[in-house]
Amino acid sequence: MKYEKEINRRKTFAIISHPDAGKTTLTEKLLLFGGAIQTAGAVKSNKIKKHATSDFMEIERQRGISVATSVMTFEYNDTLINLLDTPGHKDFAEDTYRTLTAVDSVILVIDSVNGVEDQTRRLMEVCRMRDTPVIVFINKMDRDGKNRFDLLEEIEAELKLSLHPMTWPINSGKEFKGVYNLDAKNLRLFTASTKADDDDTIAISDLSESLLDEKVGERDAEQLREDVELIDGVYGALNVNDYLQGKVAPVFFGSAVNNFGVKEMLDTFIHIAPVPRSRETSARTVDVGEDKFSGFIFKIHANLDPKHRDRIAFMRVCSGKFERNKYYHHVRLDKDMRFSNPYSFMARSKDIIEDAYAGDVVGLFDTGNFKIGDTLTEGEDFYFTGIPTFSPEIFKELVNKDPMKTKQMEKGVSQLTDEGVAQLFTQFGGNKKIIGCVGELQFEVIQYRLLQEYGAACEFRTLPFYKACWLTSKDQKKLDDFLRFKQQNSAEDKDGNPVYLAQSEWFLNTEITNNPDIQFHFSSEVH
Ligand code: GDP
Repeated sequence: MKYEKEINRRKTFAIISHPDAGKTTLTEKLLLFGGAIQTAGAVKSNKIKKHATSDFMEIERQRGISVATSVMTFEYNDTLINLLDTPGHKDFAEDTYRTLTAVDSVILVIDSVNGVEDQTRRLMEVCRMRDTPVIVFINKMDRDGKNRFDLLEEIEAELKLSLHPMTWPINSGKEFKGVYNLDAKNLRLFTASTKADDDDTIAISDLSESLLDEKVGERDAEQLREDVELIDGVYGALNVNDYLQGKVAPVFFGSAVNNFGVKEMLDTFIHIAPVPRSRETSARTVDVGEDKFSGFIFKIHANLDPKHRDRIAFMRVCSGKFERNKYYHHVRLDKDMRFSNPYSFMARSKDIIEDAYAGDVVGLFDTGNFKIGDTLTEGEDFYFTGIPTFSPEIFKELVNKDPMKTKQMEKGVSQLTDEGVAQLFTQFGGNKKIIGCVGELQFEVIQYRLLQEYGAACEFRTLPFYKACWLTSKDQKKLDDFLRFKQQNSAEDKDGNPVYLAQSEWFLNTEITNNPDIQFHFSSEVH
């Protein structure tokens, strides 16, 4: 393999969590270890505190300036780590789902007090679709959390994931004394540390040593011995292959804000987390080690600053070497393009790069050529598959308030849907334009952006739909008949695929039962 060395030193991942579990805090600690930042407090949360457009706009404006925070690249022990940021707000979950198509593994943060929460469940569903390897970080052990055995059980049951504890906590809350590393067989006593090079562990290879009693007290030492015996009996040693196949998730306990338990996780992460792997395309499997470059766009970031109306397309490199100023083939447009200012994302600064390898994310300046899922190659025609579009949850009719601006509105809607901000459906027969989003906030964003960027005023009228299902059938006539019969509930998506808009779960189930020759899909491939 020509680029073996480069590929094998890269780990590309995302941290996912329910808002407030500690994703931002953990990100910051990881950057601290990577030497990418020197002080705590340097990473700003991209959280939307209130459910308000103004908040979102403000954040987007800031992000436009420091788009570098979308991807953070840093080195730790000779490993080059690409950490992809995901928005915390649930209204932007689609953006997160797509980012998950560009990573090779994830770290899932769970709040030890709240356990498994809504967003955790949904994000894990997406990970399961792709068998993404997961490491779990149970955070906030300095607070009185749930009983740790109960917590593990809850996570296993709710997330349908087998867990494998790598460290084990001694108490929680005020009584939290530290973690025992089950693999390295050492003890780390709880201290709030802000330094990256803190390595104060106490080797205790045999838990019956009296040193343990000295360090944590007799009662807790006894409890730890009992716990560990139980864990060893149940779990044994970690099977790394099971982890790599997404079947088993190693678990670490800690406190991100105190930088405690983070290093244990990071050390394991760089040891076991997958390096970039081969990927499926519409034509064949692309081997990560191929000499020829290929990559796909998973995210498009619009700059909302009116002075800089450019967009940045985020491309994941899948094989070969991407080079600045070299011509590449844009498969969908059948057009050769080159990029004179590709960005890399070394923490906190945007740097123009000369080349990038599999696993890397490159930011490409875009004037409207890209949409989510676009593939770039050295000439071959294929698309990377497995980039899903999920059924939206809120549907509204788009009403044009200014007939003079119809063209601008259509262009605006087309570009915003290319960016993945929302999905557009056109009702059969009626030509009604229906916008589907995951959250209310996105409608406000669309309205704002259509006006600001395209000068088009629009309104939304709520529609009584609850889900969009993509339809397929081996029997084209049956499908056509269904669509004709259900005209009020039928539409096509932007690529002309037929979609059924269900009013309620009851209607949907009835249709599924009544139409055994038609398949109803809750997500569709971008291509
Ligand atoms: P995010 O929404 O997942 O990015 O969460 P943040 O990283 O912004 O953290 C949410 C809140 O939890 C903040 O106030 C953090 O200071 C706090 N927090 C993070 N980690 C810990 C921890 O280990 N212990 C405690 N007590 N609080 C924490």
